[in-house]
Amino acid sequence: MTALRPEVAEFDRDGRPGDGQPGGVMPTSEHEGAGLVQLHESIATLLASRGQWRQAYQHLRSAFDLVYADQDDPPQVPEQLRREVDRLRREHAEAREQSLRDSLTHSYNRRYLDQRLVGMVAERGGTAPGLAIALIDLDWFKQVNDTFGHLLGDRVLQRVVELLQEELPEGAFCARYGGEEFVLVLPGLDAGPAVEIAESARLRVERHAWASLAPGLRVTVSIGLAYEPPAAESPARPPVGPEQQLLRADSLLYTAKQSGRNAVAYREGGRVRLAGPASGRRGIAESRVAGY
Ligand code: GH3
Ligand code: MG
Ligand code: MG
Repeated sequence: MTALRPEVAEFDRDGRPGDGQPGGVMPTSEHEGAGLVQLHESIATLLASRGQWRQAYQHLRSAFDLVYADQDDPPQVPEQLRREVDRLRREHAEAREQSLRDSLTHSYNRRYLDQRLVGMVAERGGTAPGLAIALIDLDWFKQVNDTFGHLLGDRVLQRVVELLQEELPEGAFCARYGGEEFVLVLPGLDAGPAVEIAESARLRVERHAWASLAPGLRVTVSIGLAYEPPAAESPARPPVGPEQQLLRADSLLYTAKQSGRNAVAYREGGRVRLAGPASGRRGIAESRVAGY
C-alpha cells in the first residue's frame, strides 16, 4: 500500500481521517490521486472489519468520487454489481431487523424498546401526544412450566405475543421486556382508549382456547398501564421520562397481581383502578415503588 501521510493516516473517534472529512484531502498529481483512492479503500476495509459501516461507506464514496471526478458521463454500473449491491442492502436490512427482534416470540426486543422510547422522549416537545405504556406479566407462569414443561411454556409465550399484537392501533408495538414480561407501547391515544386496548388484550388471553395446546392449560396476564398525557395539556409539569413511566407501570402491575391477577390496573384522577370485571374487587394494594 502507498505510504500513509501522517495527516491522513490518523483517525478521529468516528474513524474519519485527521481532518474529519473523508473526502477532504485533494490529490495534487495523478500518481498521488491513485494512492489516495487506495488509501480510502484500505481505510474502508479497516473500518468495515470493525463494524463501522457508515464511516467505511464514506471512505468508499470518497474513493469513488476521486476515480470519477474527471469523467463527464457517470460510469456504467455492471448489472452483476448492481444485483450484488441490492443483495447486500437486503441482507443488511434483514440483519438489522433480526437484531431488534426476540428470537423466541419474534416480537420486538428490549433493544428496540429502549431505542424507540429514547426517540419518543426526543420528540416530546410542546406538541408531544399522549403515551401509554402497558407492562404485561403472565400469571403463575412458573407453574405452567412446572406442570406442562418448558417447551410448552415457550409455545405459550409465542401465542401470548400473537394475542397481544392483535388489533393494535397504528404506531403501537409489542416488545419482550424480559422473561415472561412484555410491553405494549401505545402512542398518540387518550387515556380511555389506552385502557380499553389493554383490557381487550387481557380478555383475549383469558378467552383463548388454551386447552388446544394442552388439556387443562389456562393462561392469564396481569397488566399495569401507565399513561402520560399530551405535553400541551400540562405545560408546567416536567415531562415524565420512559424509565419513570415504566416504573409506574411496574407499580400498577404489582397492584394488578395483588388484586388477584388477570386484571389491568391504571390510574385515574389520582386513584388506582382496575378495568373491566375486575373493577369490583376490593382492597387494592399499592406497590412499594410508587414512582409518583
Ligand atoms: P406471577 O403471577 O407472580 O408473575 O408468577 P410467575 O410464576 O409468573 O412468576 P415467577 O417470576 O415466579 O416465574 C416466572 C417464570 O417464567 C420462571 C421462568 O422460568 C419463566 N420463564 C421466563 N422466560 C421463559 C422462557 O423464555 N420460556 C419459558 N418456558 N419460561 C420462561
Ligand atoms: Mg415476571
Ligand atoms: Mg409472571
